[in-house]
Amino acid sequence: MGFADPGRTSVTEPPLDCPLCPRLVAFRTDNRAAHPDWFNAPVLTFGDPNARLLIVGLAPGLRGANQTGRPFTGDYAGDLLYATLDKFGLSRGTYRARPDDGLELRGVAITNAVRCVPPQNKPTPAEIRTCLSFLRETLAARPGIEAILVLGKIAHDATIAGLGGKPSRHKFAHGAVHRLDGVPAIYDSYHCSRYNTNTRRLTPEMFEAVFAQITADLQADQTPR
Ligand code: SF4
Repeated sequence: MGFADPGRTSVTEPPLDCPLCPRLVAFRTDNRAAHPDWFNAPVLTFGDPNARLLIVGLAPGLRGANQTGRPFTGDYAGDLLYATLDKFGLSRGTYRARPDDGLELRGVAITNAVRCVPPQNKPTPAEIRTCLSFLRETLAARPGIEAILVLGKIAHDATIAGLGGKPSRHKFAHGAVHRLDGVPAIYDSYHCSRYNTNTRRLTPEMFEAVFAQITADLQADQTPR
């Protein structure tokens, strides 16, 4: 499996040996020793350089993006996310759960609040704060982004804080939209994880309803007034 990332468009992404979070660097080093054929590095933003929608997950899954090198690729969450993008005409090609499947995103980019896989899928508050500098740089490098879809409360709180807001004033709620001054609108969804879908906290229909609202809002923004 190749690890080329056709979506990497900006020098503002973290380097593959980013040293800023010691605990995650140690985990990366262990994973490189145990699984030398895996990606095992900060997972870079994937998608359309002219995206209007940025999707922000929490962090790479150990055997998903950390293994394959592309956000949400290789684990269950990606199956639902990429199927939904396809349904809304936001991708071109067929998602085959590998980074060399030729899939292209249309008007969408995908990233994570924390770019390195954390142990037990749980980044610390300090790691979240540190990595948010890259989310800010990603947004600065992509001025066309008008909407951010955050997946889950942790990604929501991190994104709100990273963009200068107070999570206590903009509480996470599935389906909510938050409009802060000077930054793109932020749309909340429960994370499309296997656990959330198995427990029906998030159904495909609920997830599609969020995308329907985002695509309608983006379309309305393009309508001449
Ligand atoms: S999580 Fe982000 S800031 Fe921390 S080491 Fe990885 S890329 Fe660097």
